Amino acid sequence: MRYADTTDPGITMTSGRNNLYSILDAPAQLPIRPLFGLKNEQLTEALAEFSAPAYRARQLAHGLYRDWAASLDDITTLPKSFREQLAQAGYSIGLPEIVETFKSIDGTERYLIATGDGQTVETVWMPEGDDGEEGDGSQAGDEEAIGHHDATICVSSQIGCAVNCQFCLTAKLGIIRNLTPGEIAGQVVAVLKRHGVQIGRDRINLVFMGMGEPFLNYDAFMDAVRLLVGEIGIAESRMTVSTSGIVPGIERFAQELVRPKLAISLNAPNDKVREEIMPITRKWDIANLVDAVRKVPLRTRERVTLEYVLLGGVNDQPTHAAEVVKLIRRAGLPAKVNLIAWNPGPGIPYEMPSPEDVSRFQQHLIDHGVPAFLRRPRGRDIYAACGQLKRTVEV
Ligand code: SAH
Ligand code: SF4
Repeated sequence: MRYADTTDPGITMTSGRNNLYSILDAPAQLPIRPLFGLKNEQLTEALAEFSAPAYRARQLAHGLYRDWAASLDDITTLPKSFREQLAQAGYSIGLPEIVETFKSIDGTERYLIATGDGQTVETVWMPEGDDGEEGDGSQAGDEEAIGHHDATICVSSQIGCAVNCQFCLTAKLGIIRNLTPGEIAGQVVAVLKRHGVQIGRDRINLVFMGMGEPFLNYDAFMDAVRLLVGEIGIAESRMTVSTSGIVPGIERFAQELVRPKLAISLNAPNDKVREEIMPITRKWDIANLVDAVRKVPLRTRERVTLEYVLLGGVNDQPTHAAEVVKLIRRAGLPAKVNLIAWNPGPGIPYEMPSPEDVSRFQQHLIDHGVPAFLRRPRGRDIYAACGQLKRTVEV
């Protein structure tokens, strides 16, 4: 395991370290009360015990979500005495801290981000060149030098995952716990701070495709989305959430006024193969899934993304591609398919698909009118690619 280079200012200057000290300094009998993650009503409620004027909640929100304050003392719009009162009552900013960074040769970075209870979650930064998918990431350094970012952050929603997909490394952990809204949105802010991102100037996309199943932590996930949209200022049209197919979650999602785009991890051409690789199919089969997705009102030109992990010999053959085309036609959904060649992980009994099978699969879909894209693996060398998160526990 490689430890973070602590001379890197992006790592050492994050708020969390200050925070950790303020946590340690807090009176032992008081619970740690993180402020980052609270929505406006909750901040107002929290401040009620101090009989502070209402506008203090706004100032606090501004410090947390616009200025990304590292510690209470950085929010200088609040009087010093008031900041002290908050600290004495056990409040701290509580922004998660990047404790370890792995850098890939392709420009991708994977972070271990510490939560208050000594656990870590994983978050990935993927710089895109101006030439988008054709970029090899080598221009990432230049991009930062000229002070402009075009990047995607892959965010975790749980520590571990309960879903047990047979090809996924995260599944091996089981579910450890749900993340809070502050821990989900906090991963994004920790990474934005590290790269000196300016909201409004830089183009940042979020994908909720890290560790965990977002729709099994639905409320916290959607609270985090609302914070990221309303307070931090990232448009929901730049966000995509991926689910393994939790039908009640998709049905709730269909009711949301503000929501990310939807991706479904289909991964198989039929229920039989899907049951083998994603046992959750026994609870909700593909037909259930399609019915739920149909309830989501799509925006103009919006398509549902169907993710499809290609597993050598299991679901990557021409007959499978033909079945996928039929399945999509029958579903009658505006869909596009994102193909992902399976990324290997220790102790996972699958094989990578051959490059020929991958291209043949993609071509079959395209030839039959189904838009199909091949996701290039990012950061495989640092175990940052899809389904590789949390390898660190095994080494
Ligand atoms: N739990 C959610 C989101 C996180 S997984 C979900 O399953 O959709 C994000 C994507 O990574 C999913 O589409 C999943 O099928 C894919 N994936 C998991 N393990 C993988 C692996 N080893 N190689 C390639 N993709 C993988
Ligand atoms: Fe969980 Fe997604 Fe991995 Fe399945 S693919 S085990 S749902 S993280």
